[in-house]
Amino acid sequence: MLKGKSAVVTGSTSGIGLGIADALAAAGANVMLNGFGKPEEIEAIRAGLAAKHKVTVLYSGADMSKGEDVAGLVQGAEQAFGSVDILVNNAGIQFVSAVDEFPEARWAAIQAINLSSSYHAIKAALPGMKKRNWGRIVNIASAHGLVASPFKSAYVAAKHGQVGLTKSVALEVAEQNITVNAICPGYVRTPLVEGQIDDQAKAHNMPRDRVIREVILASQPNKRFVEVEEVAQLALFLCGEYAKSITGTSIAIDGGWTAR
Ligand code: NAD
Repeated sequence: MLKGKSAVVTGSTSGIGLGIADALAAAGANVMLNGFGKPEEIEAIRAGLAAKHKVTVLYSGADMSKGEDVAGLVQGAEQAFGSVDILVNNAGIQFVSAVDEFPEARWAAIQAINLSSSYHAIKAALPGMKKRNWGRIVNIASAHGLVASPFKSAYVAAKHGQVGLTKSVALEVAEQNITVNAICPGYVRTPLVEGQIDDQAKAHNMPRDRVIREVILASQPNKRFVEVEEVAQLALFLCGEYAKSITGTSIAIDGGWTAR
């Protein structure tokens, strides 16, 4: 389905990004991985995906909090593969605090990684997509791109921003066969959420299983985590031919959370 196409997935050494990289590679795309982690573990992921799917898989440790690194990631992939046809803006971090106590450095890091990196990557990828008259951009936002929760002001602001960016860019490139969409997952069990379970268990002095049901999944009506593969398959669909008329939209995958 994606044979001959090449993809960049930011923040793909773990969690949702890794799941999306796997799904795109399984569909035949070459993939540029990105993110942090232990070098030997990242190399094992890279080599494993390449061997499993018989595609080229490369890795860049570019820091998504730095605009020049983001541009360099896309340019490096373009040089290595000959094109970047698919861009998945997935890298993201979380920090929870009352807004009047929110540390400025954490606020800035969340805006840089969760929002501005999408702008920098899109800016770098669009000229090539326009030249080839084809492109797919998938922004991994969040249910928090559509609704808010207390104590997550930086994350909610950045994710709402990412949804706005999605709409604006989609309008700009609609005639060039480039689609731009946001996926808005509810809670997906990844290292990012595992950290929140631990933090909340401490804060509420509750066992982890109660925290999961009563705190973490309190707003998720189906009371279960979204699986990484569900998000990955939705991203894959958005990259395919049958999604060519889907653009500028935000697709919730949240067990009913934002239906309330
Ligand atoms: P994760 O912590 O498992 O993975 C995050 C990835 O981003 C890792 O590969 C990490 O190395 C990378 N990363 C972090 N900072 C980086 C930086 N400065 N430069 C480059 N890479 C960086 O998290 P996840 O849960 O898979 O989250 C992925 C995306 O999905 C995020 O944007 C997150 O906000 C979003 N999301 C997650 C959930 C959830 O419940 N897990 C729900 C909605 C949205």
